[in-house]
Amino acid sequence: MKQHILPTAMLGILGGGQLGRMFTMSALSMGYRVTVLDPDTESPAGALADVHLCADYDDPAALQQLADTCLAVTTEFENVPAASMAFLEQYICVSPSSEAVSIAQDRIREKNFIFNAGLQVAPFLAIESLEDLQQDLSGHLPGILKIARLGYDGKGQVHVNSFEEAKNAFLAMEGKPCVLERKLNLKTEVSVIVTRTGIGQSVCFPVAENHHAGGILDISIVPARVASSVAEHAREMALQLAESLDYVGVLAVEFFVLDGGELLINEIAPRPHNSGHYTLDATQFSQFDQQVRAMCGLSPGDTRLLSPVVMVNLLGDIWGDDEPAWDILLSEPNVHLHLYGKKSARVGRKMGHFNVLSEDADKALNQALELKARLNH
Ligand code: ADP
Ligand code: MG
Repeated sequence: MKQHILPTAMLGILGGGQLGRMFTMSALSMGYRVTVLDPDTESPAGALADVHLCADYDDPAALQQLADTCLAVTTEFENVPAASMAFLEQYICVSPSSEAVSIAQDRIREKNFIFNAGLQVAPFLAIESLEDLQQDLSGHLPGILKIARLGYDGKGQVHVNSFEEAKNAFLAMEGKPCVLERKLNLKTEVSVIVTRTGIGQSVCFPVAENHHAGGILDISIVPARVASSVAEHAREMALQLAESLDYVGVLAVEFFVLDGGELLINEIAPRPHNSGHYTLDATQFSQFDQQVRAMCGLSPGDTRLLSPVVMVNLLGDIWGDDEPAWDILLSEPNVHLHLYGKKSARVGRKMGHFNVLSEDADKALNQALELKARLNH
């Protein structure tokens, strides 16, 4: 059994974006020290960490320093080179494992893994060459051609209606491996965030209902407005998947909900997730607290929802020449603003989010939408 890692040990994280920053804040407030590896000199997490290793994710000297100075290391993104994680695994606790991360890096492996674990995914075809398109595609059209690696926030996805369109989209993605997924009529989308420890204790946070705009998460509503049987089923599926992966750490599982309440797993993320940001304010422990606890071999914290909550993402789109009018949010007694400290705002860039807590989810949603509209002005 893994030993507990206690404060004031040094913890490492690969990646210093907003997820790394919120992890760093959790770890620091618990008394741990943090080293962030991120090549960006202005990394949001690097600015707060005890040590910012400003180097590439496969830089041998930086990886050796992590191995020498940290007792455990985790990641904030799935595209960290699996070889870097495998290197660190020789010396210190790495969670999630390089194996789990490499499955989540590749949509083809990910979907096959989920399917082989006995769980449902959207119908898909692996497209690794033009020959793979020379088959009956009718069951998968109209569809979405998704690049297998490095896609996020709807990037690397093309909607296709015919063989011709699929072929052109595949060529436009330089013939890189893709999946062709049937476009489904979604009733809604939900996600579950699981925390699992090295001795197999697992818990999940309440199910979030997610709404996207332009392929990017826009709003999460918790509790999700789905039947309790659907929510329970989503939690069971997420726990089963974490078990099958022998997962250690925080795992996000995104689901499609179809008309009859049927659930399909869309994708997973081997880390805290945007749809779990509500846990910063509406549960006793945030998903980042859980990430710290799991990597340190501590048991997971309580996950009960303390209040209905709606999370709204703040994208660079609303910045214009000036900062948005934050007093709109800060003058509300039940609204929590979280900004990530990013220096420059760009369209589609996640700059922050806010959580609205209220006695019921509909009330929180109405207030959140009204605040969002005022901020957009
Ligand atoms: P990303 O890695 O960009 O999050 P996703 O596969 O999760 O990629 O797709 C982003 C969003 O696009 C989903 O949350 C969903 O709203 C929509 N989408 C993706 N695949 C499908 C599909 N097969 N049918 C309908 N909508 C889809
Ligand atoms: Mg997604």
